[in-house]
Amino acid sequence: MSAPLLVVVDDGPDLLRDVERELCNRYEPDYRVCCLLSAAEGLATLKDLQAAGEQVALVLAGETLAGESGTALLAEVPRTFPHAQRALLVEWGHLAEAKTGDAIFEAISHGRMDHFVLRPSRPPDEQFHQAISSFLLAWAEARQHAPHSVNVIGQTWSGRAYELREVLERCALPHSFHLAESPEARALLTGVGARRFPLLVMPNGEILEDPSDSDIAQAAGTTIDPSGDSYDLVIVGGGPAGLSAGVYGASEGLRTIVIDSGGVGGQATSSSSIRNYLGFPRGVSGGELARRAYQQAWVFGARFAFMQRVTDLERGDEGTVVRLNSGGIVNGRAVVLAMGANYRRIGVRALEDLHGAGVYYGAAASEAPTIADEDIYVVGGANSAGQAVLHLAHFARRVTLVVRAQTLAAGMSHYLVRQIESTPNIEVRTSTEVVDGGGEGWLDHLVLRDRVGGAHETVSADALFLMIGARPYTDWLPPTVERDAGGFVMTGSDLSPEAAQALGRPPLPMETSLPGVLAVGDVRHGSVKRVASAVGEGSIAIQFVHRLLAAAGGTPARP
Ligand SMILES: Cc1cc2nc3c(=O)[nH]c(=O)nc-3n(C[C@H](O)[C@H](O)[C@H](O)COP(=O)(O)OP(=O)(O)OC[C@H]3O[C@@H](n4cnc5c(N)ncnc54)[C@H](O)[C@@H]3O)c2cc1C
Repeated sequence: MSAPLLVVVDDGPDLLRDVERELCNRYEPDYRVCCLLSAAEGLATLKDLQAAGEQVALVLAGETLAGESGTALLAEVPRTFPHAQRALLVEWGHLAEAKTGDAIFEAISHGRMDHFVLRPSRPPDEQFHQAISSFLLAWAEARQHAPHSVNVIGQTWSGRAYELREVLERCALPHSFHLAESPEARALLTGVGARRFPLLVMPNGEILEDPSDSDIAQAAGTTIDPSGDSYDLVIVGGGPAGLSAGVYGASEGLRTIVIDSGGVGGQATSSSSIRNYLGFPRGVSGGELARRAYQQAWVFGARFAFMQRVTDLERGDEGTVVRLNSGGIVNGRAVVLAMGANYRRIGVRALEDLHGAGVYYGAAASEAPTIADEDIYVVGGANSAGQAVLHLAHFARRVTLVVRAQTLAAGMSHYLVRQIESTPNIEVRTSTEVVDGGGEGWLDHLVLRDRVGGAHETVSADALFLMIGARPYTDWLPPTVERDAGGFVMTGSDLSPEAAQALGRPPLPMETSLPGVLAVGDVRHGSVKRVASAVGEGSIAIQFVHRLLAAAGGTPARP
């Protein structure tokens, strides 16, 4: 197959030449560069390329193209190449002009382009190339061709092959799926004898036959065997809150272990683009953020135990004894609970039976490319559902957002409501719920109920994404850890007077009713359900861990 294309449309021949030079010098022969001088030529060429079966990775457009706006051209790109990244080439200095700034803000917030990039300055312009490389990585990830990807080969889409994809997703390991009979699978298995499906072809070529979850963690080098070791700090959960506690704990000299029943990243790994996390103006996928945080904690000396579920906590001689489902134990002088929360189940048997076969909990970023040109439904009225709808609308023919509330604004941020309303292939059905559905091995229809009039309607549907609220992972906690009615862990000043009194001193912020045990992130009663706040709580908690250890006669309290 020929190399993917980088398409540049700019009406100034000299400007176009500068961009062409930079792109050719750096990206050929892995990519081909195609330069065009007008919007009309750009659109016609994209159609021809689509008809010829070519791949377009990136389209760059000048701010104005013979009087037309570059963003108008970029807005048209998904019609021919839905995965192609789209960026506006902006002159340095123009960003300070209100007109340009407003136009960029408008175009990004309405999904007409992904971002902007400053025109290249004198070579070498590493800032320009950093931006281009990020676009190319995002394109590769959207097509599940990220570097060092794991290939899952299964005989069907559902069953264990689906579970494996979920495990890889939770380990933040990039992966792609191929049916055993597909040309891609045949190419990967050339010269390989009979095998037990599903198979994982690891980035180093190693093949795992029908692996268990812990086989995957071991092959990825992300597990250790906890067998009675003692740590200053044991963190339960490796989502944003736990990873942050891991980075700060380890970097401040605490012997730290992070234990997770899956892999890194928690819920955040199901987010394809987190746009509101500080420092990532182009947005960042939850998986990428988790991978970076994991490496950061690891180089500070934090250790990780993946695919190990914590099943109990009890007071021990030297702190808290943490029990694992594997039968192992670890001792923590302090413990931070960061187990986050899970989506509520829809409770419709027919739909639960199709989980993984057209029915998904969360945004299931990895499924997005499989729904091209299909009619899909998303259920949920909060921000995560809004983001999922906007992401999935890039791929699907039509996306219907089903919301129980009477208005979208009841549970969603204003900026998302605006984007949804201005996306033509999204339909919103308020005061509606999904009450049934089904299909032969794969979802093909849903039954919707109008909550006002009570009428039922059967609609055909190729996929259903459920984002209907969260339940904290706290059922396993001992009764001594106080929780609210929804199961979220009470901490600090929210503890009942009895629990606070039992501690024998005023509780520290984030401290639970069990001495020496703190809770952070989504699992904590009253927490703000956001990545940044989970990360913030994880870092703040370490200050209180130092105080607890100092009080217990360990490390000195930090200033
Ligand atoms: C689809 C989606 C999109 C989102 N988009 C955004 C966004 O754009 N911006 C934003 O700010 N927020 C977003 N959020 C919310 C954000 O992801 C969460 O607020 C954040 O992940 C909470 O972090 P946490 O570490 O507290 O918990 P989690 O991320 O839930 O992590 C908890 C971890 O604990 C582990 N665990 C649970 N129980 C146990 C146990 N018994 N033993 C061991 N491990 C256990 C779990 O496996 C999990 O890995 C989104 C969420 C979703 C689902």
